[in-house]
Amino acid sequence: MFIGGTVISSVEFHGNMSLVIFMSGCPLTCRYCHNVELFEDKTEWSLEKVKEEIDSSADFLDAIVISGGEPLVQTDAVIEIFKYVRELGLKTKLDTSGIYPEKIRELLNLKLIDYVSLDVKTTFSKYRKITGSNVGFKVKKSMELINSNPDVHLELRTTYVPTLHTKKDILNLVDEIEGDIYTLQQFRNKNVLDPALEKVEVPNPHDLRKIAEEIKPYFDGQVKVKSAEFGEQII
Ligand code: SF4
Repeated sequence: MFIGGTVISSVEFHGNMSLVIFMSGCPLTCRYCHNVELFEDKTEWSLEKVKEEIDSSADFLDAIVISGGEPLVQTDAVIEIFKYVRELGLKTKLDTSGIYPEKIRELLNLKLIDYVSLDVKTTFSKYRKITGSNVGFKVKKSMELINSNPDVHLELRTTYVPTLHTKKDILNLVDEIEGDIYTLQQFRNKNVLDPALEKVEVPNPHDLRKIAEEIKPYFDGQVKVKSAEFGEQII
């Protein structure tokens, strides 16, 4: 399996200490992507090495988060890791773009996921503008599959880029989505895939908060804003 690295985090799985594993590879080309170095990373890890990494901090961990890249490019590896995590009695979280609904179905059927963080990059019909591919319908299918499993916690999140999104886009998007949490994330303009976006101003967190307040009545769950200045704020 190809893994770009790991990090211990207290914020990736709310209220839980987690080890985050960054799987390499992603078929999308989101213009604001910060994880470009993971696209071609070929650092190979054995399952034994991953187990040792988990074991070395298992005493103070509550959860393992598998992130990327797009982890489901390596679904067999994700399954092997999460099966081991289940043996240890820890919780599991998957960060995904949602472009592989059938692989999500497989993980759900195996009861290997407690929490999914699903990127909803824009309204489902406008995906090509941001990701380079018309995959919104697949993301929608993934969202529906996860929502049909009430035991699985679903967070949806959008990175708000001023030149790629408008407030109306977010209002329209909220009409299309369903989940436990919706997080509006602040775009960062450093180390992004599309160099043109490095000139785009980072959105003001107060403006993001205003948008979040506007959408809150239309989303049947918790609404949050995440910014470098204030961290996570519940609206
Ligand atoms: S932001 Fe887009 S391109 Fe980058 S890893 Fe995530 S899904 Fe892939």
